[in-house]
Amino acid sequence: LWEYAFKRILEVSSLSLYDIALINATWTNFTDEYFQCKKYESQVMRRSDAKELINRARLAKSCGVLKDEVKVEIGHIGYHSCLCHENFQHPSFGYIMNLYQNFEKGFLPFTGGIMDQPAAVMELIDLISSLYAERDLAQQQKELKKSSKTKGK
Ligand SMILES: [Zn+2]
Repeated sequence: LWEYAFKRILEVSSLSLYDIALINATWTNFTDEYFQCKKYESQVMRRSDAKELINRARLAKSCGVLKDEVKVEIGHIGYHSCLCHENFQHPSFGYIMNLYQNFEKGFLPFTGGIMDQPAAVMELIDLISSLYAERDLAQQQKELKKSSKTKGK
């Protein structure tokens, strides 16, 4: 199963910039509420000004529209649309997250030790691991800010 899921990625000896860009975008899409546009739209759907709100949000974020200018930048890579765009969803993202979670539990996708795993697999794990670390750091900083604010009162 693993070998099937990663066949496309393993065709290259290491991760392509394309894969990294797509994984970053898909991750951000999942972890940042700002890009969960469908969710937002269903939340405001019942409001009388729903149409206006949704249109305004879509216009501001360039949902579903590829623009000439960069709309979002992650790790020096520019994206020309809101990250909710279907072009920015990595087709193997679910498998990659599975791979990472299994690795965390001590299961390697291929027989042997860490040194026996294909380079791309370890790069994927490193990438997801750094994304988690970044997210945790951002959360900690947010909480720190919050607690220092309440202390100041
Ligand atoms: Zn959007």
